Amino acid sequence: MSPLRSTDHVVVVGAGLAGWRFSEALRQQGFDGLITLIGDEHHPPYDRPPLSKNVLLGKWDVGHTLLATDELVASNEVKLRLGRSATALDVETTTVTLDNGDIVRGTYVVVATGTRARRLSFSAESAIHTIRTRDDLERLSETLAGLAPHSVIAIIGGGFIGAEAATALHTRGFEPLVLEVAERPLLGVLGADVSAWLESLAKDAGVELRSSQHIVDVSARDGGFVISFANGEELFAAAVIEGAGAVVNTEWLASSTLSIDNGVVVSRDLMAADRVGAIGDVAHFQWEGPTGVEPVRIEHWQVAVDHAAHLAHYLMTGASPAAPLIPYFWSDQYGKKIQVLGHPRPSDEVTMVHGSINDAKWVALYSRGGAVTGIVALSQPRALMLSKVLLDTPTNLDHALTLAPWAN
Ligand SMILES: Cc1cc2nc3c(=O)[nH]c(=O)nc-3n(C[C@H](O)[C@H](O)[C@H](O)COP(=O)(O)OP(=O)(O)OC[C@H]3O[C@@H](n4cnc5c(N)ncnc54)[C@H](O)[C@@H]3O)c2cc1C
Repeated sequence: MSPLRSTDHVVVVGAGLAGWRFSEALRQQGFDGLITLIGDEHHPPYDRPPLSKNVLLGKWDVGHTLLATDELVASNEVKLRLGRSATALDVETTTVTLDNGDIVRGTYVVVATGTRARRLSFSAESAIHTIRTRDDLERLSETLAGLAPHSVIAIIGGGFIGAEAATALHTRGFEPLVLEVAERPLLGVLGADVSAWLESLAKDAGVELRSSQHIVDVSARDGGFVISFANGEELFAAAVIEGAGAVVNTEWLASSTLSIDNGVVVSRDLMAADRVGAIGDVAHFQWEGPTGVEPVRIEHWQVAVDHAAHLAHYLMTGASPAAPLIPYFWSDQYGKKIQVLGHPRPSDEVTMVHGSINDAKWVALYSRGGAVTGIVALSQPRALMLSKVLLDTPTNLDHALTLAPWAN
């Protein structure tokens, strides 16, 4: 790959975290050609994690999440085209078509279109809230402003977003009721052991969580909502929020020649074609993990940031960055901080190595075939970061237990 030149025009589609950080990284690495950043939201790039935390708590105005201030947009010389969806990509000519018929022709295109909230098809769908965008939060804030204290707010889904929403709403004096379809929240993400260790967090925080909840419909009634379950039971809530995961935004690429399979399939250097890359939540990439190269798509803030730096480096130098990507994720829920390093599978073996469940402070190692694949910590940020060394280079579980970096 020949490095980018001043005459190049890089068109970035998706004005979220990955698209913005990539544009910044290109400038930091010396690119002085044109950058156009296209986004379908009307807002300049902003950060999503605070939406379900400080914004929903009412501590931050939603504008506080802004990443691309006017000054940064100007100093980075990024041409923003907001409120416009890309509807097609011609890979050969690196040409993007917009929903108003405009054509934006670059010499390189970077796909950073992320994911959107998964919708469950219920009768009252249009009145059910999601927590994905600034506009979602503005709409939810309006609803909350009209509710009496202690109103029951049903949260469908006990995953990360659902738990964070419940935490914030409980703090604000509402009565969140978390309805989880699985036997336990996070069972399919963190596996049987760790999800069991986390099970009591909601209860300890005074939040009601019901597992194995099979909802068949949510309908509007008497100014609120009736939630109907498969067993015939019904429940009334003043408002309903869905936290049912995310769907990858690749429909606009259907007519392109890119390989689409649970995201845009890219190489180790995040390239989907000769002059097309993909980064962030939308990228299905080749990750060099502790047990070998595996195709993954990861919806983590830090992965989007690392992808942005990686692809900018690759396009500017033609070389891969030296540092390996170690996925990192955090979630603030029920008054605790869950942190995950690596990309463990729910079926991996789990060994608690530090702290105890009773204290709700611990560190656990995930391993597969004897190799450490991930580290999960509950409210032990220092011990977690000290343990990162176990993922910097592949480490055998027995050796990790001897090293015990978490205890330093
Ligand atoms: C409420 C919330 C809380 C979170 N909390 C955490 C957390 O605590 N820790 C953590 O690690 N991660 C967290 N995340 C995940 C993290 O925010 C994402 O991994 C990150 O935003 C991914 O960035 P991205 O740029 O790839 O995608 P996005 O942020 O989704 O940005 C993609 C952008 O592209 C736009 N777009 C889509 N299609 C088109 C199109 N055809 N044309 C033009 N534009 C388009 C989208 O509207 C969007 O603006 C959270 C996410 C949410 C929603």
